[in-house]
Amino acid sequence: MSGKLPVVAIDGPVGSGKTTVARLAAKKLGYVLVDTGAIYRSVALKARQADVDWNDADRLGELAANLDIRFEEGRDKQKVFLDGVEVTDAIREPEISQGASEVSAHAPVRDALLDTQRDLGLSGGVVMEGRDIGTVVFPEAQVKAFVGASIEIRVQRRFEELKSKGKQVSLEDTLREVRLRDQRDEQRALAPLKPAEDAVLIDTGPLSAEEVADRVVALVSDFIEKETQIKHENHKS
Ligand code: C5P
Repeated sequence: MSGKLPVVAIDGPVGSGKTTVARLAAKKLGYVLVDTGAIYRSVALKARQADVDWNDADRLGELAANLDIRFEEGRDKQKVFLDGVEVTDAIREPEISQGASEVSAHAPVRDALLDTQRDLGLSGGVVMEGRDIGTVVFPEAQVKAFVGASIEIRVQRRFEELKSKGKQVSLEDTLREVRLRDQRDEQRALAPLKPAEDAVLIDTGPLSAEEVADRVVALVSDFIEKETQIKHENHKS
């Protein structure tokens, strides 16, 4: 590392708390936050608007390669703009969640979004959250955390998130949604959801989001301290 700030990869399944944790950690560190799930969700929404089937890998790949997506810091969440129109809430609809999980299994989509994601993290000082950041997008990320929790806790979190947005869903529907997305994310041939070998595993079940974010910040501090020490040693010799 030549004085560049680190890339922090936070991966984990639905309801693991990674979006909240990544946002808090980015704020504490003063780093840029990149929610890669929002990018896959935007592809699904764009496909819906353009009447492209979520199974049409080639056309989805074209949409992904030409995606006009922009993030903007809001007061309590990051705002997402697609083709200049705010889609922050539209991309969180349960139907688009399923769509994102479908479109993300296609190679042309993943290939097209790889460059987009790498460009966003290139200059460092970024917290990037998703499913394959530590394994595929930034295998060389200096700090990697894989966050998880039991299925019961994750379903409850997702249920509460949907309820708080006024969605009429049952706990059973939510369980089905989470199971289906887990299955697709873990079993797909390309970039399946799994921790990188060098990722630090964090069980978010017994911890508050603040506590998990503090752990991530501590990992970054450890890394920077080690780097500084190495530079110091090299300078002396
Ligand atoms: O994280 P979030 O739930 O917003 O992601 C939506 C979907 O996008 C996930 O279910 C997953 O299928 C896909 N995704 C992915 N790789 C990423 C981020 C998200 O495949 N890095």
